[in-house]
Amino acid sequence: MSIDYQTLAVEGVQGLMPYQPGKPIDELARELGLDPAGIVKLASNENPLGPSSLALSAAQKALGDLCRYPDGNGFALKAKLSQKLGLKPAQVTLGNGSNDILEIIARSFADNTAEIIYSQYAFAVYPLVTRAIGAKGVEVPARDWGHDLSAMASAVTDKTRLIFVANPNNPTGTAHSLEAVERFLASVPERVIVVLDEAYCEYLDVSDYYTSIQWLNHYPNLIVSRTFSKAWGLAGLRVGYCLASAAVTDILNRVRQPFNVDSIALAAATAVLDDEDYLARSRQVNASGLKQLAAGLEALGLRYIPSSGNFIAVEVGPEAPAVFERLLAQGVIVRPIAGYGMPEHLRVSVGLPAENQRFLDALSKALHGSRQDSANG
Ligand SMILES: *Cc1c(COP(=O)(O)O)cnc(C)c1O
Repeated sequence: MSIDYQTLAVEGVQGLMPYQPGKPIDELARELGLDPAGIVKLASNENPLGPSSLALSAAQKALGDLCRYPDGNGFALKAKLSQKLGLKPAQVTLGNGSNDILEIIARSFADNTAEIIYSQYAFAVYPLVTRAIGAKGVEVPARDWGHDLSAMASAVTDKTRLIFVANPNNPTGTAHSLEAVERFLASVPERVIVVLDEAYCEYLDVSDYYTSIQWLNHYPNLIVSRTFSKAWGLAGLRVGYCLASAAVTDILNRVRQPFNVDSIALAAATAVLDDEDYLARSRQVNASGLKQLAAGLEALGLRYIPSSGNFIAVEVGPEAPAVFERLLAQGVIVRPIAGYGMPEHLRVSVGLPAENQRFLDALSKALHGSRQDSANG
């Protein structure tokens, strides 16, 4: 007799779709028989500079201790982060990427009786962790592709335990002013945890980097999550963190797996925080790349959503899946975002200048192809 294991999965999990990552370079190279070196991947908002040399040498040095468990408390990394941000180490929680952090938060504060609020077009991991724990997701319609913060605050009920806010948001690149975010915080009851996901905060103005940290003093229900995956260039190592009151941090650390961040990641992340020069170059390459892409898209007559992140969502129309395929055929990987309810957009990450140009040239050809197709009926 055969069992349908689908029916054994808990209810929320039965309806889950796996997270769709960007296509890996080696996979496309195999499929097309291309040299991986000729492929441009602008699909996962990765740092185009490659890793910082400080991070690399710290990682190499840590290899010698691979037989040891990592420091389960992440002492050195927490010390450096908290010193840099003017907090106590007891306010820092480390995660296996900030995805891990988001899941730890959800499992700590919500269960299958809870409602969790997030925005339409927001980061895919919010509905994913919500369903995985059997909670009810409350998706609030977006405004101009961004979060409608006042509608999100109005969606709070007695059952609301968590609100996820991405600022800037992925995949839209929309961001709210810090004043607007603080107004929102002030309008949410203190018993509701607000997760402010700042995965792209390093790309904002430097002064903004510290503002949300100050809010932790006034809003004990606030959790700010950040990552080493984007501007710090360590996506492959999986390390993120969140900042909160000591009381909330204590809860998160009960749920967190004891060794959720490995020793190489701890070493590299601790070292990269000293590489201000790398961060400055990341910001500079991103700012000029955003301009280059925006100008190129305008020249192609395409609309895009102005972005505060390291990527742009561009509107290519109903032909988006075909355009995506035609880009792949030219060795350029971007990200379709139909899964976010944006079937006519593609998301392109900011690359090095030559990579951005490769994308724009390939896109021009891919669009031309679509006109030929329609002309041929
Ligand atoms: C990329 C991203 C993250 C970070 O993911 P990691 O698990 O830290 O690699 C978190 N939130 C948003 C909105 C992102 O785009």
